[in-house]
Amino acid sequence: MKTRTILHVDMDAFYASIEMLEDPALRDKPVIVGGIPEKRGVVAAASYEVRKYGVHSAMSSYQAKKLCPQAIFISPRMGLYARYSKRIFAILREYTPLVEPISIDEAFLDVTGSRNLFGPGSQIGRTIKRRIREELGLTASIGVATNKFLAKLASDLEKPDGFVVIPPETATARLADLPVGKLWGVGQVLQRELARQGVHKIRDLLVLPVERLEAIAGSHSRRLRELARGIDTRPVVVGEASKSIGAETTFTKDISETRRLFAELDALATRVAKRLRKEGYRAHTIQLKARYADFTTVTRAVTIPVPSASTQTLMRTARDLLQTRLDRHGRPLRLLGVSASGLVRPAEGEPELFPDRQREQDERVDHLLDALQDKYGAQKIWRGYQRREEDA
Ligand SMILES: [Mg+2]
Repeated sequence: MKTRTILHVDMDAFYASIEMLEDPALRDKPVIVGGIPEKRGVVAAASYEVRKYGVHSAMSSYQAKKLCPQAIFISPRMGLYARYSKRIFAILREYTPLVEPISIDEAFLDVTGSRNLFGPGSQIGRTIKRRIREELGLTASIGVATNKFLAKLASDLEKPDGFVVIPPETATARLADLPVGKLWGVGQVLQRELARQGVHKIRDLLVLPVERLEAIAGSHSRRLRELARGIDTRPVVVGEASKSIGAETTFTKDISETRRLFAELDALATRVAKRLRKEGYRAHTIQLKARYADFTTVTRAVTIPVPSASTQTLMRTARDLLQTRLDRHGRPLRLLGVSASGLVRPAEGEPELFPDRQREQDERVDHLLDALQDKYGAQKIWRGYQRREEDA
């Protein structure tokens, strides 16, 4: 098999770095981008100055403020970050068409076919890093390796402003002393199970008898053994497969009543469906995100038989996930989110074998509502049984 060259590019403290770039007075200050503590917000990005205090993203802003009282809180400006992101991805795509976006500030690149033109992967990586710094004033951490797993691992090793190349012959040595949690698919539960078998580092996993690993990790065991040896054959998937469109809301007070949670979900599903339609997508997968009062966050997803951008379908699916897939037992929630992924553009797909009458009708209503809302504003035009929701 031909040796591939994969890059993983990941911007450093992306939102916070942009805010510091836009306002030089914020430089070297403990900057937190996220919701304000008084409104029960969550940290979306933390500058490296504030991370020293133990602040990290996804932590509650309240807790972050306790750790670093002098922190400066800034509300996210997603439009601004998206504009920076666009410029970064434009640079990446100059070096290969094989770019897989993971998020607004992170991507895999397969530059195997670009080496003749731009030099070896390390050189392409260095060039991209330099251009992002010179043209945008931001730093990226980049990992270069022969597959996605190693490239992502590499970009993380010397973050921020990191640049690490893992040549295939050094992969096993690089991996040996890292904790097994670094392997994709090894979450806390599996990690605990492995620890019970004396497996803490990746090197331990390699000497664990196959049957014992299978007993713990089941069908994952083969892939785990491959990853532990630095083998990962997953291709870089171009385009929007990993893109998702979502909306979430943090309540000013926790909500436990199902009826009220449904109303919140309807509003979120409406927003997501509308954005899907606006961008010309239908989604295969709908995901529900719920956060309990103690900050435990769970996600539940379902793949729907026919990809959809219908408000009705998204609402029904989200409600269904909340009711049947969440072991809530009446516990109150502080946050709900709905997101759509596995996005396809209807025109690109196969011709529809089973055109769906109900969906066609739903979509006609959706389009009519979109047009009216664009013209008269969302406040005035609303489905009869929905109530208006404030965006968090
Ligand atoms: Mg990042």
